[in-house]
Amino acid sequence: MQASFKTTCCYCGVGCGVVVHRDRQGRLTVEGDKDHPVNRGMLCSKGMNLHYTVTDTSDRLMHPEMRYSRNSPRQRVSWEQALDRTAAVFKAIIEKHGPDAVAFYASGQCLTEEYYVVNKLIKGFIGSNNIDTNSRLCMSSAVAAYKMSLGEDVVPGTYDDIEQTDCIFVAGANPAWCHPILWRRIEAARAANPRLKIIVSDPRVTQSCTMADLHLQLHPGTDIVLHHAIGRLLIEQGKTDAAFLQQHTNGYEKYREMVMQRSITEAALICGIPDTAIYDAAHYIGEAKGFMTMWTMGLNQSVVGVHKNLSLINLHLITGKIGKAGSGPFSLTGQPNAMGGREVGGLSNLLPAHRVLDNPAHRQAVQEFWGGVPLSDKPGLTATEMFTALNDGRLKAIWIMSSNPLVSLPDVRFMEAALQKAKFVVVQEISNKPETLAYADVVLPAAAWAEKEGTMTNAERRISYLHKITDAPGEALPDAEIICRFAKKMGYKGFDYANAGEIYNEHCRLTAGTNIDISGLNYQLLKEKRSVQWPYPDGTKDHGTPRLFTDHSFYTPNKKANIHSFDDENNSEPINDTYPLILTTGRIRDQWHTMSKTGKVSKLKQHITSSFLEIHPEDARERNIRQDDLVEVKNERGTVRVKAQLCTTIKKGVVFLPMHWGKILNSDLNRANNLTNNIVDPISKQPDLKYAAVQVLRY
Ligand code: SF4
Repeated sequence: MQASFKTTCCYCGVGCGVVVHRDRQGRLTVEGDKDHPVNRGMLCSKGMNLHYTVTDTSDRLMHPEMRYSRNSPRQRVSWEQALDRTAAVFKAIIEKHGPDAVAFYASGQCLTEEYYVVNKLIKGFIGSNNIDTNSRLCMSSAVAAYKMSLGEDVVPGTYDDIEQTDCIFVAGANPAWCHPILWRRIEAARAANPRLKIIVSDPRVTQSCTMADLHLQLHPGTDIVLHHAIGRLLIEQGKTDAAFLQQHTNGYEKYREMVMQRSITEAALICGIPDTAIYDAAHYIGEAKGFMTMWTMGLNQSVVGVHKNLSLINLHLITGKIGKAGSGPFSLTGQPNAMGGREVGGLSNLLPAHRVLDNPAHRQAVQEFWGGVPLSDKPGLTATEMFTALNDGRLKAIWIMSSNPLVSLPDVRFMEAALQKAKFVVVQEISNKPETLAYADVVLPAAAWAEKEGTMTNAERRISYLHKITDAPGEALPDAEIICRFAKKMGYKGFDYANAGEIYNEHCRLTAGTNIDISGLNYQLLKEKRSVQWPYPDGTKDHGTPRLFTDHSFYTPNKKANIHSFDDENNSEPINDTYPLILTTGRIRDQWHTMSKTGKVSKLKQHITSSFLEIHPEDARERNIRQDDLVEVKNERGTVRVKAQLCTTIKKGVVFLPMHWGKILNSDLNRANNLTNNIVDPISKQPDLKYAAVQVLRY
């Protein structure tokens, strides 16, 4: 039967609405949803090709597989056999080594309901907090900074602020490629308001710089110096909001003293930009009525990622440009549902509805709600810590769900060696491509986007409903159903859900009375509304809460926002004579993360067909490297061998590799994360993926 379904794109955190048409033969086509408040009918190249990810089943996992020993090949088995054995092994490990000997590694691409049940399983019934996700690699520095400054993990504003602002500072991000529909809204806002100023800070001249009034091409790792210098100028030029500072903030005096310690000339020298550029940036921000900041991995994926975030948020707090139309700090989410995952507590240091582990009342409330075992107050292992624990034997079993860590984690050769040491590995996946499958004792085939229903939350706190449109191939099952079947095999009560709606409604009830209260938004109502911005407590009308802090009352104990002060040091791996270049990594326009979905769409491969190294011509000349020469990028952790792309758009002394490529024909020489290191931010535990010391030689 012919039908059309309104749903949501499953790639980035922009959260565009799509309409999927299914014809009588079951063929799917996709178009942008003209009625959707986020994208208003527009889709980027990835969104326009979404349907191929499900219609092309050539790489799909169809049946559970299992092996009985490391030396024997995996065989096709039934779901019963796979889950019986998995439960038996988990029980044996937990009995012998305790609950912290097992872990789940999930994904910002999971639906909220999937996150909810796996989090409930490990924290509420197994009795460990060992669940983390690839969101640790993406958003955790922004999360920590929001909590420290605003008292809660919340994005204060809404995309509609784009049309109401007159200054946007894009820091360490390339939304023109990575959040394209948002960028089109910025382009349209600029066309409608030529006074809109756009500032971009990035060591590379990216597509986002083409529309910028000011590009601050700073040295990697110097963002805090830049933000502090802008803060100093705003203070000196009288552009702060004295009333706001006095009534609604803590910590301003200390901040003022701190930013005065470094002159603008000194700051400019450290950042590698002209001091006039810092004056221009402060002028644009100071003169603006509405001021937005947007950032992604350039700030988050850093050993000082939390401080980078705080230093940017401070610019809003000293100018009072938060909680107002056209103003606010806006972290752009890389993954489609990183925020939904945090709502249900799906990280090793969180509990549902943004409750916290170290609060006994929070633990007790959740335990009583779930009816399982007492919740542990010991933070679980984070993404990189899980692999360290596999390596040293503390962790025995790992369950990897909808993620491809052997491409995306830093120092990935170490991670491979660690996975090799695991006693038991479960991989729950849609595709036969991820490198983790080589280590799996049990493989569980999962349903993909459009083959299951549920919800996700985008970067502006918008919860969206996703339709099931087509059946999953073979015996693949929705992730939530796999986890619930396993939980029942373990003998746990409370996993008998009839459908995704029942899981969602349970999550809703658990948010009542919290800062992210959505108790007024049951599944049926969400399906009718299609998308709503939280909070949405009982009695809320319309489409939720687009903007927070309009009364300037923050979620801290004294209701004032915290202006934090700290030095501007970057603690990344230092370059030296052997490894004199800084490697930074990032995304390209038409690929998504580790390419297990976009990599099979031929239209998306046409833009850039293979990995490459961007290098400045002067750095290339010193090494006798010419355009398209094969080069080796090296350090003590590994090697990458790709063609050189000489370009003046990258800062001298810096080289760039795309992060998407993994192993090709058993060679890992395209994989950027062979070279990155697993130093993490001490607060957020997010890895320093944007900064590694390397050497480049002609091969
Ligand atoms: Fe999908 Fe993001 Fe593109 Fe929108 S911008 S269509 S959410 S990938």
